[in-house]
Amino acid sequence: MRPDILNPLFAEVETLDGVGPKMKKPLDRLGLTRVRDVAYHLPERFVTRRAVQTVDEAGEGEQIVLKLTVTEHRGGRNPRAPYRVLAQDSIGNVIALTYFGRASYTAKKQLPVGEVRWVAGKLERYGDMLQIVHPDHVLEEGGDTLQRLCEPVYALAEGLTQPRIAGLVEQALARAPELPEWNDANQVEREDWPKWREALKAAHKGEDAKARDRLAYDELLANSLALMLVRADNRRRKGQPLIGDGSYRGKLALPFPLTGAQKRSIAEIEGDLAQEAPMLRLLQGDVGAGKTVVALEAMLIAVEAGAQAALLAPTELLARQHYETLRRMAAPTGAEVVLFTGRDKGRARESILMGLLDGSIDIVVGTHAIFQDTVAYRNLAMVVIDEQHRFGVGQRLMLAGKGKRAPHVLAMTATPIPRTLTLAQYGELDVSKLDELPPGRQAIDTVVMGQDKIGLLVDRLAAQIAEGRQAYWVCPMVRESDGPEEIAAAEARYAALRERFGEDVVMVHGQLAPELKDAAMERFASGDAKLLVATTVIEVGVDVPNATLMVIEQAERFGLAQLHQLRGRVGRGSAKSICILLRGDTLSETARERLALMRDTQDGFQLAEEDLRLRGGGELLGTRQSGDAAFRIADLEQITRLLPAAHDDARLLMERDGGLEGRRGEAARILLYLFERDFGVRTLRGG
Ligand code: ADP
Ligand code: MG
Repeated sequence: MRPDILNPLFAEVETLDGVGPKMKKPLDRLGLTRVRDVAYHLPERFVTRRAVQTVDEAGEGEQIVLKLTVTEHRGGRNPRAPYRVLAQDSIGNVIALTYFGRASYTAKKQLPVGEVRWVAGKLERYGDMLQIVHPDHVLEEGGDTLQRLCEPVYALAEGLTQPRIAGLVEQALARAPELPEWNDANQVEREDWPKWREALKAAHKGEDAKARDRLAYDELLANSLALMLVRADNRRRKGQPLIGDGSYRGKLALPFPLTGAQKRSIAEIEGDLAQEAPMLRLLQGDVGAGKTVVALEAMLIAVEAGAQAALLAPTELLARQHYETLRRMAAPTGAEVVLFTGRDKGRARESILMGLLDGSIDIVVGTHAIFQDTVAYRNLAMVVIDEQHRFGVGQRLMLAGKGKRAPHVLAMTATPIPRTLTLAQYGELDVSKLDELPPGRQAIDTVVMGQDKIGLLVDRLAAQIAEGRQAYWVCPMVRESDGPEEIAAAEARYAALRERFGEDVVMVHGQLAPELKDAAMERFASGDAKLLVATTVIEVGVDVPNATLMVIEQAERFGLAQLHQLRGRVGRGSAKSICILLRGDTLSETARERLALMRDTQDGFQLAEEDLRLRGGGELLGTRQSGDAAFRIADLEQITRLLPAAHDDARLLMERDGGLEGRRGEAARILLYLFERDFGVRTLRGG
């Protein structure tokens, strides 16, 4: 049960004044669903404005506040053209206030001709005219807001403005209660940290490193503590020792010998499974390193020991593909493998449920549907999680079977994350590394090309297809993965390529009905379709060895780790593969550097580290804005700097007060709820 003191923070955002169904949408997009989220929606930066008498005193690009007299409104007939309000400063200089789209309605109301207004915003030059685009403030009197001059700038979504969100933040902060201190008193004193509520308020007011650090540390501490609680609980519980006799594995007829790294990883897993303590192991291996076989061997050990195993995939598409691969490989062993997704209905569903319950199904592959309450297993003893990016899935799973014996968990990831980040994301878990690619792989040639060469590229593509090869075409990521812009770009490219290649082209994107997506994937995987046009949904896991060409449009928009994942879709067979990175014509220096690096290295670990250096770790930890991120307050620099201390601190707290009963322990419980790491609390008696 969440402590009552937190109730005001966990109220829905709709309880804030001015939030109706219309504003709910942009707030949702920002991940702000509760008052707490709004209070923690920290400014991206601050602007400092200068009050000026005339525009002559201000430089271009400067944030200013000045008094203007409105002289004329221009536009309004063509809704696509900008709407301009002309105004004069005290000595008659003309400046345009420019509005796009629906914002012009506001302008008409706020800026009647002949009136005097205080206007705040960024001064820019447009042709030979000075302008302010979408002023931040327009006031009749130079009120408080403009006097303050230093203002937070928040991340926005369409339908929100800075003043709106600032107003909501203010309301949310007013509801924040005083909370007991969960940090170590000595540390708070040493670091000179403000109390929680003060820190939160200060972080919205101006640059305040101490406040920001304190808030980040809170989050890191909550995370470490939750992971440790679950781990400790897990150690207390008994798993099921799984010892295989090799009877299933012996019948596997793999078309290749295992690599040394694969053998080593399997041995490590086998050792863990034989123990009574449930396994929690991360299998890290670059794309194409061959994680699937390792997972299969591990699952077969469970089957040999008379238990069941499950493989959890993040999407239906990947679940299906894993299923096909595993079923094919496992066929000679006689193990019963099924696919189970949320889409199975009626008789098919019933029969799978039955098989899981009576134990006639040995291995189930699926999406999270395999862990619904309605699904009962005879003896599920081992779970493999593929491409776990989502925070804490493994931890939750360990708790899922509470009361019964805990399953052994193997998490697989192709994201080569540095040690600190592993610790942050998974806590203390064991790691097996596939640091060796299967033999015979040829390096993938990577070419960077201007978007204008697309005609030549299409000819090259035609030649590849004529040779019986297949290709991927990844469309640009405009703003977020598979938002409306992404879909539009993919649709347009698909239509264009279809004119040339007809039925040979298929398309997949996130908004497509699952049946259509599967149908398209199946045509591509079977070799019937030659070209797969996709948004980034193909990023993880898809395996079509005959595909030897990868085209990525506007490659500069992707992160290195992501490009590397995409590139890993080709070069899976023995034939030479090529990856073509199409770039726009205006590139920043960093973008140029990144694409050159992509061209020059194939090493996922090196790319991940460079990515960290060049653009911070957002990508490694998931997108910050999308509730998936492990951390929403702490940034990468803070994680690297503060996590080790938070981790040690959590351990000390656990050692002294493992039940979180004392005064600091009670406060720490509140912290866990505050950061929704309460699955940690649930491991405690009476928690
Ligand atoms: P990932 O680690 O990216 O999940 P996969 O398990 O999909 O990699 O394997 C990539 C490809 O390499 C598959 O086609 C698989 O059959 C093949 N493969 C796996 N292990 C070996 C090996 N030891 N020798 C040769 N090919 C292998
Ligand atoms: Mg894989």
